[in-house]
Amino acid sequence: MSQEEREILELDVVFVGAGPANMAGAMRLGQLIQEHNKTAEEPLEPAIAILEKGKEIGSHALSGAVVDPRAFEELFPDSWQDAPFEGTVEREKLWWMTESKKLSMPIPPMLKNVGKKVASLGKLLKWIEPQLEDVGVDIFCEFPASEILLDGDRVIGVRTGDRGVDHHGERKANFEPGVDIHAQTVVLGEGPRGTLAKQLEEKLGLMEGKNPQIYAIGLKEVWDLPPGRIEAGDVIHSMNWPLGFDTFGGGFIYGMKNDQVIVGLVVGLDYSNPHLDPHGEFQRLKTHPAVKSLLAGGKMAFYGAKAVPEGGWWSCPKPWGDGFLLCGDSGSFLNSQRLKGIHLAMKSGMLAAETIFEGLVAGKVDADVLARYEEKIAGSWIKKELYPVRNFHQAFDKGLVGGMLQAGLGMVTGGRGWGIADRLGTQAGHERLKRLDKEGASLPKPKEVAFDGELTFDKLADVYNSGTGHEEDQPVHLLVSDTSVCVDQCAREFDNPCVRFCPASVYEMVEDQSTPSGKRLQINASNCVHCKTCDIMDPYQLITWVPPEGGGGPNYSKM
Ligand code: SF4
Repeated sequence: MSQEEREILELDVVFVGAGPANMAGAMRLGQLIQEHNKTAEEPLEPAIAILEKGKEIGSHALSGAVVDPRAFEELFPDSWQDAPFEGTVEREKLWWMTESKKLSMPIPPMLKNVGKKVASLGKLLKWIEPQLEDVGVDIFCEFPASEILLDGDRVIGVRTGDRGVDHHGERKANFEPGVDIHAQTVVLGEGPRGTLAKQLEEKLGLMEGKNPQIYAIGLKEVWDLPPGRIEAGDVIHSMNWPLGFDTFGGGFIYGMKNDQVIVGLVVGLDYSNPHLDPHGEFQRLKTHPAVKSLLAGGKMAFYGAKAVPEGGWWSCPKPWGDGFLLCGDSGSFLNSQRLKGIHLAMKSGMLAAETIFEGLVAGKVDADVLARYEEKIAGSWIKKELYPVRNFHQAFDKGLVGGMLQAGLGMVTGGRGWGIADRLGTQAGHERLKRLDKEGASLPKPKEVAFDGELTFDKLADVYNSGTGHEEDQPVHLLVSDTSVCVDQCAREFDNPCVRFCPASVYEMVEDQSTPSGKRLQINASNCVHCKTCDIMDPYQLITWVPPEGGGGPNYSKM
């Protein structure tokens, strides 16, 4: 398409993604400008916007969540108590689970949540939305940023995706080209494995000298329960079963308002057994007598799944460059030991805003100004919180027991643990998958979970409850660069793990007598809940997730 056909929008600051990092960042920037303009001779009037690929604010935002409210307190000192938290944690438990039993364990200090807030991330973001408008930030929903615009190594803006393109890539009658949005600064808060952040990491080497990012997948359902079953703010975490000693992760149960409960499971995307199906293990969790009795008589209302960046401090990419900053999950600002990232994401966005504001006041937001963002992070409570747990997830590379011992030792050694100089290296999660053609006999297949449609649900039933919808006639947004690998090499070596690690039945190996192998990969793209697991966990790294047409995807606003 010629450049003449594509509209160009000139802005000063564009935030890509309306998650907690960018919503807090845009809010902080707006607040700083408003405060400045009260006394400034020359008021600042920058054009600031947030681009969001979802239908509305919160529709693609998913988290557990037990929130540490410290960033809310800083950002909204007079009103943070009005935010729609579900409840304050007063009672919490930690269960060590076996298949039929549970043992209540003492809660280690770093896992204590009393005083923290159970929350729906979607509802919190909805609460921030009108306040952004009050400080002059424009919000454009259904605008997925699909490409980073560069002038050499300098980011000059983003391109949004075209609309009205059919399955074969041809223009339909309603075709609308995407817009080129030029900005002095692009703030990427796309969540984990962001499309543009990935492009930049590869082009500019932002991960050089860092540990590879390690991810987990979090799966959750929200249930309506009979009255009085659980109090809003009740928190239960669980360890061991169903994942066992070799797979990182654990369960969570959080009480919400109106007799709703969140039940979920986090599974490290560095598991070694290709037979593992994280969604299946989540369904199995609910069959434990303690969880089953909690949910008895209830009804599942919502489902969602999302990747979580677990690598921590050593997996933080360089968070700035000429023309851009990385925030939130895109910057690896998440504490995997506490299973919390919302407060860190918000703080990173706020520090990004303070950095940009300094540049706006000085009249230029160049690379020298943006470099101060990294200094601000290092001088903030982000580093104070993340550095002491810098080796947490890596320690679990040797299993649950070794990881727990190292985590305990890390608390008294400032994060070093046993025999660790300062930094514990690791490998990318997909590289840990064992090959079935070499070690198949030693890798057990998890027991099948029976889906009864009342307590346990198959992936399609869960996808239905995620509110997921996409325009059907559009290009497939899961790009597999060589599908011949799927039918032969991957089938032999890993038995096509995409069929299992995708929590939404997007990937299927189907019979097809027209192919030499009699099989082919079928991609049911409209089921995709945008969790990014396939982009992360594909053992050959052939899958690239790209944003579908704007507005498509899950609807997590009430989760
Ligand atoms: Fe997640 Fe990929 Fe499946 Fe979409 S296709 S739901 S991004 S694993």
